Amino acid sequence: MPSGCFRPVVQRIVAVRAALFASGIAAFGIAVFGIPASGFAQPMSQARPGQNPWRLGVFPVTVFSGYTSSFGGRTGPWGAIEPHYGLDIAAPLGSPIRNWWGGTVKEVIHDGRCGVGLVIQSGPYEHIYCHLLGSGADGVYRCGGLQLQPGQRVRTGQLIARVGMSGRTTGPHLHWGMRYGGQWLDPALILRAMARSRGAAARP
Ligand SMILES: [Zn+2]
Repeated sequence: MPSGCFRPVVQRIVAVRAALFASGIAAFGIAVFGIPASGFAQPMSQARPGQNPWRLGVFPVTVFSGYTSSFGGRTGPWGAIEPHYGLDIAAPLGSPIRNWWGGTVKEVIHDGRCGVGLVIQSGPYEHIYCHLLGSGADGVYRCGGLQLQPGQRVRTGQLIARVGMSGRTTGPHLHWGMRYGGQWLDPALILRAMARSRGAAARP
């Protein structure tokens, strides 16, 4: 039984979250693999004319503890470089994960690597959430009162999961993956576009 799913989690206020988000972006030192984020279309045209749609995206982790592994190559346990198709965001066990962008649940993952995971489709984007708390063995994600299954609509910012340690991980974190038109994309590019658009929005 995923008893950890019922654990009360401290919710931070939005301002604190935004500050942590900004400092996280600054501290991370984002790697760019030759693809300007501005070259990507936003998942959906939810924005009003004149508004930068990227600012509608939601940072998926609500209690940010730092970035532990970036997109690209990393040194595996045996010293060999292995690909890493995502961004690892450390967060306390059981803390909430929010949906980056409104869309539809495409798949509930349950394997030895991602562990319990979710794939959400938003236009040409698929966003992937791994190492979740809870269960997904029967193709339905369950964690306490949360329940998600393929075909289900999820709103931007909706609580979709909780941070866990399922699959191949040594500590609680969210592995956040992103595919655009079926190709892996560095999620840091998206975060940078979001941060830039918020900075622009804050100026008069
Ligand atoms: Zn990862």
